[in-house]
Amino acid sequence: MSELSKISGSNVFTDAVMREKLPTAVYDAFRNIIDNNLTLDPNLAEIVAGAMKEWAMERGATHYCHWFQPMTGLTAEKHNSFISTSKEGKIITEFSGKDLIKGESDASSFPNGGIRATFEARGYTAWDFTSPAFVKDKTLYIPTAFCSYSGEALDKKTPLLRSMDALNREGLRVLRALGNKTARKVIAYVGAEQEYFLIDRELFMKRKDLIFTGRTLFGARPPKGQEMGDQYYASIKTRVLNFMQDLDVELWKLGIPGKTRHNEAAPAQHEIAPIYNVVNVAADQNQLMMEVMKKVAARHGLACLLHEKPFAGVNGSGKHNNWSIGTDDGVNLLDPGPEPHKNTIFLLFLAAIIKAIDVYGDVIRSSAANAGNDYRLGAHEAPPAIVSVFLGDQLTDIIDQIEKEGEAKKSICSTKLEMGASALPVFARDITDRNRTSPIAFTGNKFEFRMVGSSASIAGPNFIINTAVADILHDVADRLEASGNPEEEAKKIIREYFHEHKRVIFNGDNYSEEWVKEAERRGLPNITNFVDAKRTLIAEKNIRMFARMGVLSEKECLSRYEILMENYNKTIKIEALTAIDMVERDILPAVYRYIKEIAECINQVRATGIHIILEKREKLLKDLSTLAVSAEEKVAKLKEAVNEASSIGDVTAQGIAYRDKVIPVMQSLREDIDTLETMVDSKYWPIPTYGEMFFGM
Ligand code: ADP
Ligand code: MG
Repeated sequence: MSELSKISGSNVFTDAVMREKLPTAVYDAFRNIIDNNLTLDPNLAEIVAGAMKEWAMERGATHYCHWFQPMTGLTAEKHNSFISTSKEGKIITEFSGKDLIKGESDASSFPNGGIRATFEARGYTAWDFTSPAFVKDKTLYIPTAFCSYSGEALDKKTPLLRSMDALNREGLRVLRALGNKTARKVIAYVGAEQEYFLIDRELFMKRKDLIFTGRTLFGARPPKGQEMGDQYYASIKTRVLNFMQDLDVELWKLGIPGKTRHNEAAPAQHEIAPIYNVVNVAADQNQLMMEVMKKVAARHGLACLLHEKPFAGVNGSGKHNNWSIGTDDGVNLLDPGPEPHKNTIFLLFLAAIIKAIDVYGDVIRSSAANAGNDYRLGAHEAPPAIVSVFLGDQLTDIIDQIEKEGEAKKSICSTKLEMGASALPVFARDITDRNRTSPIAFTGNKFEFRMVGSSASIAGPNFIINTAVADILHDVADRLEASGNPEEEAKKIIREYFHEHKRVIFNGDNYSEEWVKEAERRGLPNITNFVDAKRTLIAEKNIRMFARMGVLSEKECLSRYEILMENYNKTIKIEALTAIDMVERDILPAVYRYIKEIAECINQVRATGIHIILEKREKLLKDLSTLAVSAEEKVAKLKEAVNEASSIGDVTAQGIAYRDKVIPVMQSLREDIDTLETMVDSKYWPIPTYGEMFFGM
């Protein structure tokens, strides 16, 4: 066996392990439950738990934990050892079906948006048996969902699982109505490309802003940034490559198939992409991956930055969310096939998705909103905040034909690409070129949602996309089921949806000013910031959609909104307090030390009696002092703004205050400090510079 296949998935309780460890009848029964979305039989859970414990202990595990994803966006875990005592008082190991299925946790200590008062604290974790358990750090990790005593979702996973049910239900209805009898499940798949920065850990530890907020709050542009275009795909530095190698091995062991790795556009920026998986598993794997990245980086004396915009002036980091839907018998419903114009099922799902993006574009946009992403979206390094779809020439042409003539008679075919040298192979050109500026790009057999920020859990965007698409498929299914001729009805729906929702299709340059104007003419929303974006989560039509699909109740929508707003408000407050601390206690003292040195120098030159005026030094002294005073005034203003904002009770009003009153002052303070950085003797500057962090390895 090769080294790779030996380590790959070696710490995961995979399907193959289950087949080996469980009696055949038990395995078959369990598989049947997973494959057909049936309810779990507790007797089965008992046997699975026994096998799991034995397998985990063979791998050195002494503990197990229910692993879940509360609304903090991070993961949470509570460990229990396998140790127990027998009736005779002997020490034994134990892990029952009940331990596997259900855990209890204090729900009041996690963000709950008012769903639970502190005195009603019971919360439950419930085993998600569709995502495999794994062993890490001598502990058996059991993926779970987290809910309140009354069953309300308190986490990122529950709505995702519910949205998968909705998509499965409505997708199957559509397929059945069109005569498909073989598919048992409709499944959403996701491959998430993860961007990140790596910097030297010693430098990281000297920056309070990176430690407390994940991003630099100050930092002048270095002489060199990313302007040469010499970072993207560049040869990887040895230290970084060692990290990547180690990371891949750790991920493979955990069953996360890291596939591609390369340098990204900004200095010190990189990307890793695993092979896609069923969306809830992909979401678990992405959370786990982010954690492992940080740990492995620390082992290499590095710090891994997952913030959307750790550095101003160079690209930020995103997480391209490649989404597709398929059936359990291996059909990708988004694969156009050789003759897309004749592929009714493909065109129908495509039309439904286009409609979902148009009708629910606002809440899809909101799914990518977090405090960090506000610095990235629309900044010519990531898609704008306007949701649109890139389809490419072939599909756009088919849609035009359908719209004009009721049906499409032909599709554009692929052509040969020759590079003009006999040593090079001739190959078929992709039917359309890539469009790297679109927020949602069709890339051949999947949609790439490019708005998502690098630190975000992908559960959020995907439960919203799944639900929006399921909601439209629900209407499609109703119409097909009511029609005497579903084939004809499908064609009618395709034409109608394309005609009514084509405004959301845009194949041009999404970064251009013209598109902003054009989108406005088309009536597409341009929601530029977190606060406005999140408000769409509680827009009436969106609450209705989540409720109708059984994904979130109105109460859950409201509580989720509250939690996300609170999270934003706290994030900005921490940033402001960190900025104040750094300026008052580190940066200004350094600036004044330098001012003193110059003043002394001028005085000492004067004292020699030489008749020379140090004109440039005097000007520098004046400029430094002016800026230092200005920065001090801004710190005072920032303190006042933070005090005012944090005294506001309503989360929305508070969010608006942080956005409009706090962030602008913080920004203006930064301008003074960044200018000071370019003027102060580098030996006085108290924090590592951009240049050192970018190129210091
Ligand atoms: P890019 O050129 O943007 O890097 P890739 O083709 O490398 O795109 O794929 C990026 C991600 O998309 C990977 O995680 C890959 O596994 C995933 N992916 C590929 N096919 C599908 C699919 N049918 N559904 C979902 N994700 C997919
Ligand atoms: Mg990509």
